[in-house]
Amino acid sequence: MLVVPVYDTLILSDVRIHVDEEVFALAEVKNIKEETSFLIVPIRENKDQNSLTSEDFYDFGVLAEVADVIKLEGHTTLNVDTKERVRISNLSFEKDHIEAEYEVSNVIEDITKEEQKFFLKRFKEYAQDIFKDVPGGAIVNSYIRRWRTINEAATQLGGYLALDPEERFAILAAKSISERYTLLLGGIKELLEIRDINTGIREKMTEEQQTSYKTAAIRRQIRYLEEELNELENGELDEEQLLALRIKKAGMTEEAEKESNRALRRLKMEGMTGHEYGALYDYLDFMTSLAWKDSKKTTGFNIKRARRTLDRGHYGLDKVKKRVLEQIAVNSIKGKQDGSILLFVGAPGTGKTSMGQGIADAMGRKYVRISLGGIRDEAEIRGHRRTYVGAMPGRIMEAMRRAGVNNPVMVLDEVDKLTSEAHGDPASALLEVLDPEQNFAFTDHYMNVPYDLSKVFFVCTANTTDGIPKPLLDRMEVINLSGYTPSEKYQIARRHLLPKAIEQTGLKKEQISIDTKALRAIIADYTMEAGVRGLRRQLDKICRDTAVKLLEEGDHKTVITQENLREILGKKVAHHDEALKKLVAGVATGLAWTQAGGDILFIEAVVTKGSGKLQITGQLGDVMKESAEIAYTLVKAAYQKEKKDFDKIDLHIHVPEGATPKDGPSAGVTLFTALFSLFLKKPVKRKLAMTGEISLRGEVLPIGGLPEKLMAAQRAGVKTVLIPKGNEEDLEEIPDEIKKKLTIIPVGQISEVARESLGIEI
Ligand code: ADP
Repeated sequence: MLVVPVYDTLILSDVRIHVDEEVFALAEVKNIKEETSFLIVPIRENKDQNSLTSEDFYDFGVLAEVADVIKLEGHTTLNVDTKERVRISNLSFEKDHIEAEYEVSNVIEDITKEEQKFFLKRFKEYAQDIFKDVPGGAIVNSYIRRWRTINEAATQLGGYLALDPEERFAILAAKSISERYTLLLGGIKELLEIRDINTGIREKMTEEQQTSYKTAAIRRQIRYLEEELNELENGELDEEQLLALRIKKAGMTEEAEKESNRALRRLKMEGMTGHEYGALYDYLDFMTSLAWKDSKKTTGFNIKRARRTLDRGHYGLDKVKKRVLEQIAVNSIKGKQDGSILLFVGAPGTGKTSMGQGIADAMGRKYVRISLGGIRDEAEIRGHRRTYVGAMPGRIMEAMRRAGVNNPVMVLDEVDKLTSEAHGDPASALLEVLDPEQNFAFTDHYMNVPYDLSKVFFVCTANTTDGIPKPLLDRMEVINLSGYTPSEKYQIARRHLLPKAIEQTGLKKEQISIDTKALRAIIADYTMEAGVRGLRRQLDKICRDTAVKLLEEGDHKTVITQENLREILGKKVAHHDEALKKLVAGVATGLAWTQAGGDILFIEAVVTKGSGKLQITGQLGDVMKESAEIAYTLVKAAYQKEKKDFDKIDLHIHVPEGATPKDGPSAGVTLFTALFSLFLKKPVKRKLAMTGEISLRGEVLPIGGLPEKLMAAQRAGVKTVLIPKGNEEDLEEIPDEIKKKLTIIPVGQISEVARESLGIEI
């Protein structure tokens, strides 16, 4: 097949490239047009076609086809589509062209589509960063946004990457996708470094960059300071002098400056080859990178603007936003966070973390986030003492360094997942961080001097308040995010999730739409959650699927309807509908509060001949087992007159989906109903669910988590719900949409439960 040699060009498969006719020798253009299919193969040196030999060619290339030939004012441009990667062999040099044999050699797909997508996103971010200060950046940006695959991105950016022909070839010849991506990322990061060095901009670096590109960062820092001081010429400062300058310029407290100078003296004594030089250097680097005085300057607080920003970021959540605004307003008047810390509690995907970002935007502050999940060691909050090998600052101070200012909004995620084990108590360390009486002088063990955290605006998130130690919880004001109704989800999808998904896949708005019915069906049938994470994933999936189709079928608008969902998203997620419709004596439907929001659960009871035993299975906790015993006693009491012989039977109660442990008193009424239904041999009314604790006197006592439970009931297709009378007040909190879809009956006694669920008077 015909070979077209290219020099120093990054060429990859499955992209469209525009080629000026001059790029290919004229003779080739003629041949290409005739043959349409050909091989593009990189060469090692920039040589005239006629003097090329086999040695000049790399052994990989790509198969390509001419898509169309555009002639404009006597000038010819080719649109070429590249196909598979190939390994070439047996080059033969004819009079006016070169030929070769080839075999297809695809890269190994060793990372998932998700990861590839993530990588593409990162790649775009880097690319946008590269072009952000160049003239016409906006146009370039819109190009970048449209990149749909890494290969496309890499090919277009290829010309800019700081790579030599050998390295470009290595990207083409990579064995696997992950290898190819690593090489690309290397190239792009290098480009960023060069850009920064050239412009002298001091970049705020991500953690990852900080470690692997530390030397570059230090060099940049040197340059930056030198420029700023404008006193000395390039290269005159040695590292120690530089550190001394950095200490002087950092604006530290007196104590911190003393400690740093002490470390500097030791560093000088150690010398470059000394044991501790590295550790001391890291310490001083850390201390001088912290913002001791710098606050992010805000242009005065404007409540209207803050409200607009919050509204733009999140749909609904009016109460949450109102409370957030109050807190921000107070904060801006007082200049520091006073009183309690906001704690957002709710299931995953209800907007807790992103609200933190929203607060930062509304306040015009920087945003940093720390996840506390699984932290067991106090040192992770408060740092290790420097005498400890491999000592590091704690997460709080590390986040402060990342923020680069002393007044960021800091989100502490998953405070309920803090555990205290062998090494100290992380919760009490956190208490110190959050306490305005103490946090103006927070001492990280690594730093060994106090740092003022009082300007930081802290926000915490948790799935539940259960796991949070009491003293910590006392410092916080709990704000519940109980989940979204179907129409809220619809609006969130329309306004936020779908536009984001479209942009991230690189599609254009005009290329895809999801009709109303389809979107409602995705919410009702393909997600089962309080929040919107699953919904986001489904929308991402649809966009990715559309992107692939667009590539295969050419540019056109895709309209997603309900009929397409099965093909793209597969089977509907499990529905309880069928189970709810079945009428079986001895089964009742309960409502449970879970960390993921709410859910419905079925309680089954069976009776056999026996000797008065009660068996309970399904991973129930002690409290639920006790409820079962109370329920049984109440049922026995109801049968007292009939003198039923309970000693001659065994009762078995089971709560399916045994893998999830269940506990809590709120299944009391459900247990009672299941048993009563069993002995009556009468099924419970259709699509009816209930929640409530029971006492031995037969009262129905109030429960927690009502909003989550009612929403779960509605999602699952329940129509009637019995709730404890004592929870009636909570109904105010429930969205009207949910109340409209459910018949909610408050009950105070088990006799009412029996009447409503079984139509029986006791
Ligand atoms: P959580 O921290 O509660 O698990 P996130 O804050 O990570 O949830 O939210 C998950 C995703 O859903 C984010 O992309 C977020 O922007 C989006 N989201 C959640 N709630 C809303 C809302 N009310 N309006 C717009 N987007 C939302």
